[in-house]
Amino acid sequence: MVKFSSVWELLKNIATKEGYPPPVSVDEDMCSGCGICAGLCPYEAVNIRRENGNSAARINTTLCRGCGVCAAACPSGAISVNLFEDSQLFAQVETPQASRL
Ligand code: SF4
Ligand code: SF4
Repeated sequence: MVKFSSVWELLKNIATKEGYPPPVSVDEDMCSGCGICAGLCPYEAVNIRRENGNSAARINTTLCRGCGVCAAACPSGAISVNLFEDSQLFAQVETPQASRL
């Protein structure tokens, strides 16, 4: 049996080689190091790095599944989801609702 995690890992490695960005990225200038994202990530893919008195979130792209929970919860807006544009996300949400009308 093929594990989903193995397929995901393979696809991420291919995407990285092709030059695609990681699933999410952190703007360290905007990050306060509050740790909310690290506490909520279901895959334990966020670490809070403390250096020279400053704290910032760092994403482990091997563990990250791109779910977007961290980006939605970040009070500073420091996390960007790179896989989808906003319009693509809204289209995903609106399509099932529209089909029920
Ligand atoms: S929730 Fe936002 S501000 Fe807080 S540590 Fe994570 S990225 Fe930084
Ligand atoms: S996108 Fe999801 S899996 Fe990736 S770091 Fe954020 S909460 Fe974790």
